[in-house]
Amino acid sequence: MTYLFNQPETFVDDMIEGFAAAYRNHVLPVDGGVIRRHKTKAGQVAVVIGGGSGHYPAFGGLVGQGLAHGAAMGNVFASPSAQQICNVALAADAGGGIVFCYGNYAGDVLNFNQAQERLQTQGMNVRAVVVTDDIASAPPAERHLRRGIAGTLPVFKAAGAAADAGKSLDEVCRIATEANTRVRTLGVAFSGCTLPGAQQPLFDVAYGKMAVGMGIHGEPGLHQTDALDANSLAELLVDKLLQDIPPVAGQPEGARVGVILNSLGSVAQEELFVVYRRVDQLLRERGLVIVEPVVDRVITSFDMAGVSLTLFWLNDELEHCWLAPADTPAFRRGSISGPLDNPEQIAVIPSAIIQQHVTAGSRESQKTAAAILAALESAARIINAQREALGRLDAVAGDGDHGIGMQRGLAAAVDAAGKARDAQAGAGTLLMVAGNAWAARAGGTSGALWGVMLRSLGHELGDVNTPDTATVAAGVAAALREVMQRGNAQPGDKTLVDVLQPFSAALERAATRGASITDAWKYAADIAHDAAQQTRDLLPRIGRARPHAEKSIGTPDPGAVSLALIIGAVSAVIHGHCA
Ligand code: ADP
Ligand code: MG
Repeated sequence: MTYLFNQPETFVDDMIEGFAAAYRNHVLPVDGGVIRRHKTKAGQVAVVIGGGSGHYPAFGGLVGQGLAHGAAMGNVFASPSAQQICNVALAADAGGGIVFCYGNYAGDVLNFNQAQERLQTQGMNVRAVVVTDDIASAPPAERHLRRGIAGTLPVFKAAGAAADAGKSLDEVCRIATEANTRVRTLGVAFSGCTLPGAQQPLFDVAYGKMAVGMGIHGEPGLHQTDALDANSLAELLVDKLLQDIPPVAGQPEGARVGVILNSLGSVAQEELFVVYRRVDQLLRERGLVIVEPVVDRVITSFDMAGVSLTLFWLNDELEHCWLAPADTPAFRRGSISGPLDNPEQIAVIPSAIIQQHVTAGSRESQKTAAAILAALESAARIINAQREALGRLDAVAGDGDHGIGMQRGLAAAVDAAGKARDAQAGAGTLLMVAGNAWAARAGGTSGALWGVMLRSLGHELGDVNTPDTATVAAGVAAALREVMQRGNAQPGDKTLVDVLQPFSAALERAATRGASITDAWKYAADIAHDAAQQTRDLLPRIGRARPHAEKSIGTPDPGAVSLALIIGAVSAVIHGHCA
């Protein structure tokens, strides 16, 4: 339950403003997140972390000397957009290259990859280390598919300590990657979490039960059991983690481990200590040497009641990083020696958002642009009406934010498209501007992909001619290619590709037989509608829903459903426009 907010929509902005005000001596707000208040030495590597909000202290609370140089902060439980990530990276850059470090979630991977591409085209040297410590989210043979949870702290810390020691970009990446290889976490939850303004929790754990392996976005746990007492819970967590010792770490006897016992939100510090008491006993009994444990909130899931235990299997180099001093809003260790690099005030860095310059399109193309704006407005209406239902679909095996994300993205797209229309943009430019605004504002997986779709379509439509059926079909085909290339989903993986692909094929068939755009779109929209319903029977093989594949059988894919809804709404607009 969230008691305090103004408007749910402004929750994250209000939160970041208050956070930056409370920690003025540590962080500076930038458009998209925060960076260190103290200047980084010229030529040093900068570590940029990030992810959705709702996980404090991850991610903004971990920015400061000895840890991250900047954090991109997305909306609640949604990845930051590529634009936000670029803004933070540009503000944090000290000339030595950038390491992106974040947990393995589809939305974060997509957006951080896009940001990496963009910065690289500007000549910056950017690498990424993706954290995969959650042992409940995939078996050891598929470690690369695991999600990132509290194990992000040791990886961030290794990267930050290495960067602040002046190591090269290669070295910082190598050390952070080694840290990820050696970290394992398991969590349990006793309750769900309720996001600001929501009437119901995102998901439920029945009173007296415990969901083992539940994700930090409320992704359902792998199984439920009766809740355990503190000692038995410590035994379960230690047992499971000792069954998944990283091969490089060897035998438990004599091994040195960093330990994190993390509250996922509403478990009290005192409860943590009661659990830690038994964790400490058990690890010592097994011959492990505990190095500077952290018993605190490290990464939360809003107000979820739950805990996670992390074991960080150290070698000499990583132990040095783990023990290195750090001073951030939420994590402090030792003391940062010597005078601060640059104690003088740094001006707040203005938004790096590149204002798109709109050149006027042809008269013909401006008419098409007006119709596209009407189509976006119509799409926004249907998504607003279906927001809750889409959220419920996404909560079955995902994180429940699909309705909110689509609503936010479409609102931004309509707003940007309206301005582009006023500036006499042609159809292509209007779509590109709308796509950029959508991706920047919505974040998440679907936000990034909708940005890609609108931009691809816009590229094909251009700013001169009135598009015929073949041009629209080519634009949709380009959107499909780009979405599959960037998101790596194949038909049958239970994603929006399962609608986009048959929709694109139908448009191409209709174009070949010379159908008008109205008829072609109507014909293809019916096929899209059916295809969305048919995703019901598919098993997710990609994205957030994959670890809970079987739970989603019988429920259609939310991204596929919203795409079909929008295609349907656009059909009516095209009909009206052409008539
Ligand atoms: P997130 O997964 O970041 O929470 P949303 O909830 O907004 O993002 O969107 C989820 C939808 O995104 C899914 O239902 C699916 O249709 C789509 N999706 C997820 N991953 C992919 C992918 N790799 N390729 C295409 N679509 C994807
Ligand atoms: Mg989602």
